[in-house]
Amino acid sequence: MIRKNKSQKEKVKEIAEKRIRKLFYLAEENLSSKPLLARRYIFLARQLERKTQTKIPKELKRSFCKKCNLLLKSGKTRIKKGFKVHICECGKVRRIKIS
Ligand SMILES: [Zn+2]
Repeated sequence: MIRKNKSQKEKVKEIAEKRIRKLFYLAEENLSSKPLLARRYIFLARQLERKTQTKIPKELKRSFCKKCNLLLKSGKTRIKKGFKVHICECGKVRRIKIS
C-alpha cells in the first residue's frame, strides 16, 4: 500500500472520479461519430456518481444536458446578457453565468 492514511471510502471516490473523467473523455471522442454511445458514457458517469457518492467535477457537470445526457457541444449556444444560453437537441434550455 502506498497511501496508508486514506480510507477505503476515499479510495473508492478517487477511482470513481478517474473513471468519470475517462467516461466524459470517451463521450467527447464519440460525440460526432456515435452519439448514442456518447450518451451512454454520460449516463454511466452519472450512475457512477450516484453509486459512489462522488461529485462529477464542476467543469464536467456543466458540459452535458441533464435531461438527455448529451454533451452540450452538439447543441446551439447563444450569449445573452452575461449568460451563456444553451439549447439542447432535446429542447432543454440551460443558462450558465459567464464569470
Ligand atoms: Zn438534452
